Amino acid sequence: MTFIDQWLRSDIRNINAYHVPSAKNMLKMDAMESPFGVPEELKDEFLEYISRSEVNRYPDASAEELQATLRNLMGIPKDFGVLLGNGSDELIQLLSLACSSGDSIMSFEPSFVMYELVSKFAQLNYHGIPLDENFDIDLNATLLAIKTKKPKLIFIAYPNNPTGNAFDYDVIREIIQSTDALVVLDEAYYAYSERSFLTEIDNFSNLVVLRTISKIGFAGLRLGLLVGSEETIEQLNKLRLPYNINILTQVSANFLLKDSQRIVSNAKIIMNERGRLYDELSLIPGLTVYPSQTNFLLVKSDNAKSLLESLKESGILIKGFAIGTQLENFIRISVSEAKENNVLLECIKDYYG
Ligand code: PMP
Repeated sequence: MTFIDQWLRSDIRNINAYHVPSAKNMLKMDAMESPFGVPEELKDEFLEYISRSEVNRYPDASAEELQATLRNLMGIPKDFGVLLGNGSDELIQLLSLACSSGDSIMSFEPSFVMYELVSKFAQLNYHGIPLDENFDIDLNATLLAIKTKKPKLIFIAYPNNPTGNAFDYDVIREIIQSTDALVVLDEAYYAYSERSFLTEIDNFSNLVVLRTISKIGFAGLRLGLLVGSEETIEQLNKLRLPYNINILTQVSANFLLKDSQRIVSNAKIIMNERGRLYDELSLIPGLTVYPSQTNFLLVKSDNAKSLLESLKESGILIKGFAIGTQLENFIRISVSEAKENNVLLECIKDYYG
């Protein structure tokens, strides 16, 4: 037995590590990134801007300028609090730290895997309420689970990953009203979706909204934000490690996020491409494509595993799901720009001959 085997908490030893596949020289369509990088015409100015950063100093601990930039970009009212994280993953973990041991975290299945993973890290009980056959919330089962499991924290990805749909708005309102839990509306895909719960923060003291800049073109900067009432955010802020948003992220985001028009128009391009990919893939017999309010499409195929392998051999990385899980016959494709989507479509059409 190695040192770490006998030293480590046995439940951690049994956790499967979050796996990130190698994407070297691959067309990356697996992780909901944006295909749009720093615009060519801004590169020199951007470099000049970040070169002025005082990397010998700690970053602004409260990241005030960045907070203002984000409020402006996302229309966050002045009287709401904002808590920044090193990606929204970090904020999901921070929320689990606010729970007492033995508390329960609730979410839906299938949904974003990180909710269950952080529950495990923090030794909390995780309850994943199964979604129905259309990947919608089963309200009765959810209300029953709220009564019996008494969750402390409920994560609702809106729209949901990996299914791509946004759950019924009124169903979510009913869930928020029916529980003492802090309800986290995870709006990672807000830019591609029709509705948001942001303004509902005024109506529900137990609601917070989680967002990220990862899906709108800046996954590499690692920046997420939790929005809630000022009182809620002030208390949760105590759990944030000082200086968690590094100086290069702060200055880069301040520079790049000010171009809100470009961010909106890039999202429109992706939504148009999403519609086109949806239509084209739906024409292929053997594939069932699910409606999406995100920058990805969930697709069902009886040949999911071999299709994924075939795309990999052609240099395209998409996401598959583990054998034995509800989604084993599904793939998830991140929507990219037209040129890349066309390469993907050609390969899928070739596969189905
Ligand atoms: N929430 C949801 C629903 C997601 O799909 C993701 C990323 N896949 C995240 C949060 C995490 O995003 P990040 O840590 O990059 O901000």
